[in-house]
Amino acid sequence: MNGQKFVILGAGHAGGRAVEAMRMAGFEGAIDLVGAEPHLPYERPPLSKEMLQAKPDYEFPFIRPAAYFDEQKIGLHLENAATSLDTKGKTVTLTNGDALPYDKLLLTMGARVRTLPIPGAELDGVFYLRTLDDSRGIDGALGAGNRLVVVGGGFIGLEVAASARARGTEVVVLELADRLMGRGVPKIVSERFLELHEANGVDVRLETGIERIEGDGTITGVVLPNGETLPADAVVIGVGVIPETELAAEAGIEVDNGIVVDELCRTSTTDVYAAGDVTNHRNPILGKSFRLEAWQCAQNMAIAAAKIMCGEDAPYAEIPWMWSDQYDANLQVAGMPDSWDDIVYRGDSSGDAFIGFIVDSGQVTGAIALNQARDMRLARRIMASGKSYEAGELADEGISMRDLAKR
Ligand code: NAP
Repeated sequence: MNGQKFVILGAGHAGGRAVEAMRMAGFEGAIDLVGAEPHLPYERPPLSKEMLQAKPDYEFPFIRPAAYFDEQKIGLHLENAATSLDTKGKTVTLTNGDALPYDKLLLTMGARVRTLPIPGAELDGVFYLRTLDDSRGIDGALGAGNRLVVVGGGFIGLEVAASARARGTEVVVLELADRLMGRGVPKIVSERFLELHEANGVDVRLETGIERIEGDGTITGVVLPNGETLPADAVVIGVGVIPETELAAEAGIEVDNGIVVDELCRTSTTDVYAAGDVTNHRNPILGKSFRLEAWQCAQNMAIAAAKIMCGEDAPYAEIPWMWSDQYDANLQVAGMPDSWDDIVYRGDSSGDAFIGFIVDSGQVTGAIALNQARDMRLARRIMASGKSYEAGELADEGISMRDLAKR
């Protein structure tokens, strides 16, 4: 094993944690880490939050400093990408022409932003948000008196809107659907976040798309389908992401809404593994497969894959979980229920803090919490335990969550 060579394609959060976990697992062979960005691996949550809030003394945290990669003898190939993958010859070719042979390959290429093919999208002042450089560009466009139009009322759009308001920027949010964060949260939470953004001075336009962006070199405004023009100094577009699966598909690896992997992060091709946003993976606790675009999956699935490549055989098995911070509100969502229609609340769902559960045949399959981080930690334990719970006891604030989790 230690004479072997591992190559990791994708030097984002997942790639960074994977190389670290390989060394922690005792792998002493060669490791090559390939990334398209010029930066060392980093986590993405601060890009839409701390990075945009002009917090004094905030230092962007990279996963490891450059010295770590030298000390650990990790070959870094930044501002580079794989142009082809030969799974028979076990070689990856990069944009700079280098060919990297591998014994085992890990794919952590993540996702890229979905772009909007509208007139004016090329103007200065139009941004997407995926990378550190994107975030730095947006940062320069925020400030008192500046006017920002956000396209997309999902997690990126709303976190950027909240950060922009903290800087005194005037913000309009355009969302095509009839509610905010429609894909991932129940209707009541969409409504609460609509009130929250409006109370913080955001002009939220639901069921509204964008027709074109106007300007001469630099953006001056956004034209809506009804003909209205919103004056703007900047636009941030956050309308979802697309997994980076092309290289894998061309190499004959099974792709179906992400690179398909089993519980041991193995793709359909021997010695090729994948982890994070790019995967469509099977969750053994929930008994179903899906793609997850979240910090937890990037981090923990990459660590699990790295250990598996080093000879361990523990599957990646976790209750999906994510959080979003907007203004003073902390939203956390766990599980992957088929529907959020039938929620059992613990606490007043019209108040400032509550947690709600989805119970399906005695199993807690979903939990959603507003400003209830402690209860959410316990809820995640309850969900992972697989034990049976009744809706009535979850709703009963007379029974502590700790007691419920201990049972
Ligand atoms: P997202 O959460 O999928 O939200 C995109 C939103 O834009 C959707 O509500 C979508 O509506 C809407 N939309 C699509 N086309 C539009 C158009 N032409 N005009 C106006 N609205 C439009 O994706 P995202 O916010 O871009 O975030 C990208 C990924 O990063 C997501 O997977 C997200 O979960 C992740 N992320 C996570 C966090 C976190 O965990 N806190 C923070 C930031 C980003 P429809 O649903 O109707 O298409």
